[in-house]
Amino acid sequence: MIIDFKDAVEGEFYTIDETIPLDDALTGSRGGRFKAPATLKGWYTFSEDTLAVNCVLEAEVLFDCDRCGAPTTVKYKVPVEETFFKDPPDEYSLSYDDEEVDLTPVVHDRVVLASPSQVLCRKDCKGLCPRCGQNLNEGECECNINDGKDDDKFNPFSVLKNMNNNPGGATNGSTKV
Ligand SMILES: [Zn+2]
Ligand SMILES: [Zn+2]
Repeated sequence: MIIDFKDAVEGEFYTIDETIPLDDALTGSRGGRFKAPATLKGWYTFSEDTLAVNCVLEAEVLFDCDRCGAPTTVKYKVPVEETFFKDPPDEYSLSYDDEEVDLTPVVHDRVVLASPSQVLCRKDCKGLCPRCGQNLNEGECECNINDGKDDDKFNPFSVLKNMNNNPGGATNGSTKV
């Protein structure tokens, strides 16, 4: 996406309202899929030897839920704020030539950084049964019901565990007259 500001008036604000198709590979190793081209909206302004860009990129990306694999939409809302210099003050600053700037590399960097570290179809997704593969959001399976009997209330030793929680009680009693 090229911003050409050859005819721009210094200090004026110009609208950016673009639709940008993005490669699914930018969503990272999770294999997200863009549901539609991303939108980039905001403004740019030019003064002396700098071009300032202030936009927000929005997109909807389809991922598989980390626990159950269900298709899950993640909304991206990524700020794209940059200043480009005709004569960059240091090696980290972005530059421009011939009153033109290509925003594409900046947008790509931002999208990569915005990729989610976790994707869940819902906060309390129960995932799949590790034994039979049943989606536990849709109901319990037989093997899960059996696993439930390992709970403390079915364990006879849990009573002993509670009794041991009072160490030294008898010794203290014997020191009394
Ligand atoms: Zn899920
Ligand atoms: Zn199961």
